[in-house]
Amino acid sequence: MSVENISNEENKKSLNFIETIVEKDLAEGRNDGKIQTRFPPEPNGYLHIGHAKAICMDFGLAQKYNGICNLRFDDTNPTKEDVEYVDSIMEDIKWLGYDWANVYYASDYFQQLWDFAVQLIKAGKAYIDEQSAEEIAQQKGTPTQAGTDSPYRNRPAGESLELFEKMNRGEIEEGAMVLRAKIDMASSNMHFRDPIIYRIVKHPHHRTGTTWKAYPMYDFAHGQSDYFEGVTHSLCTLEFVPHRPLYDLFIDELKELNSDNSDYRPRQYEFNRLNLTYTVMSKRKLLQLVNEKLVNGWDDPRMPTLAGLRRRGYTPQAIRNFIDKIGYTKFEALNDVALLEYAIREDLNAKAKRVSAVIDPVKLIITNYPEGQIEMMEAVNNPEDESMGTHEIAFTRELYIEKDDFMEDAPKKFFRMTPGQEVRLKSAYIVKCTGVSKDESGNIKEIYAEYDPMTKSGMPDSNRKVKGTLHWVSAEHSLPAEVRLYDRLFKVENPGEEKDKDFRELLNPDSLIVKKQARVEKELEKSKPLDNFQFQRIGYFNMDPDSTHEHLVFNRTVPLKDSWSKIKSK
Ligand code: ATP
Ligand code: MG
Repeated sequence: MSVENISNEENKKSLNFIETIVEKDLAEGRNDGKIQTRFPPEPNGYLHIGHAKAICMDFGLAQKYNGICNLRFDDTNPTKEDVEYVDSIMEDIKWLGYDWANVYYASDYFQQLWDFAVQLIKAGKAYIDEQSAEEIAQQKGTPTQAGTDSPYRNRPAGESLELFEKMNRGEIEEGAMVLRAKIDMASSNMHFRDPIIYRIVKHPHHRTGTTWKAYPMYDFAHGQSDYFEGVTHSLCTLEFVPHRPLYDLFIDELKELNSDNSDYRPRQYEFNRLNLTYTVMSKRKLLQLVNEKLVNGWDDPRMPTLAGLRRRGYTPQAIRNFIDKIGYTKFEALNDVALLEYAIREDLNAKAKRVSAVIDPVKLIITNYPEGQIEMMEAVNNPEDESMGTHEIAFTRELYIEKDDFMEDAPKKFFRMTPGQEVRLKSAYIVKCTGVSKDESGNIKEIYAEYDPMTKSGMPDSNRKVKGTLHWVSAEHSLPAEVRLYDRLFKVENPGEEKDKDFRELLNPDSLIVKKQARVEKELEKSKPLDNFQFQRIGYFNMDPDSTHEHLVFNRTVPLKDSWSKIKSK
């Protein structure tokens, strides 16, 4: 086997099942060898990481096979849709690293869909039903028991046509009548039992205003839009499997009515949804969290939205790597958020600049260091990438270290700051703690230590063994900052599953802890919103868009290591 063959073999093995279908279609010359996909969001909320999985599939497939992918807004429900969502969806797709060939809207096809519905009525394949939603539901039957025909099922086409026009002119109340496709009330597929295809909505539409009062249902818009646009592979999630026969049936009708004898037709394929532990993915619930101010908006860094993840410090690369890792299958699964956290750590480990920040500061005074003296120490920007260089950090007599890094009566294995013990101050000297001062209530005010001038990092004597290395900042030459420590939004793994509880009761009360007294090294003054950093020994952080020159704000993207399992088992 030649080298080329081996790599071809490997390539084959790594195809997901949809790529396998596409390659077969291409090999057989289906649809004239054309590949066209679409990403079809409903503009009724912000995109979340689940949508990212669909985006990577739709756009990724088109990219890989020299096809095109369009963005199509599925805007058939005017009551829930808004241009704010349209704009955010476009921004988030671009941020993820994809671009569409065209932007379409299902509302672009309202006339064509209307005409198709009229043709179906004329052909005796659709009728206006004047029963209530409840009555229609009652007649549906069960999967094992046939449904009952509506008393309006066999009304003359002329009557239905007239009423259909009235529905659209606003002369009929919402809910008073609907248009149903006449298919088969005894079908084993419930979607075939005369599905509703048009309903009255009197709310103005964000694009078509008050032109329409009768709106097509999803099942009467989606496949047809695919057909009008020339979509070849219509990819969606598994819950649409039972809709597929209806999708195909309407395409058949449409081709027949258009005397379309070509071999072109769009085909629907389904893959598993992305579900993530410790969060919810339902847009209805996410909207509730926003509306009830349980989070601070759609881009709250605790939200699983792309806007939230971006603000939290996630990179598009990390999200794409995560989606690549979980893959596409035909089985529903719950994906561990630890995998997503792994992906961002991996990406930021390679890219993020290391800086020093002290979240819960306590003063450390180096009593034998001259007052007023400053030494600029060299700090490595990223040990993983020498090309990122170094920066300077000011060392002075008065410093801050983390409260947690000091213990007065420490156990044997405590290798940080405790009286009588030596520790290294990162990029600086070895110091030995000599004591503390306390206030009246016994709280530690200041810690004292002496430094050894011979142990400056990089000097010959600097290799002396000490077990602990601490981060620090200069008291005078550091900046105050607010640090927002974000954690998982829910305290249970699968909030969607706890049906007997209101999901709002399952929120993690510690999902946001704000530290207002933090100190960060001066280097951070230069940073821009969304810049990523590693705060040494703590985690990955980024600058929040709320940050100003006067009031720096940083978000914790993810701690350095997964500390959650430890917290949980406490
Ligand atoms: P709703 O919750 O309102 O039903 P939705 O989450 O399905 O909406 P849409 O805007 O209809 O949102 O979704 C656009 C596309 O994204 C669809 O093709 C849908 O299958 C896909 N999608 C939505 N959620 C996920 C998910 N969790 N994992 C993978 N794909 C998803
Ligand atoms: Mg949907």
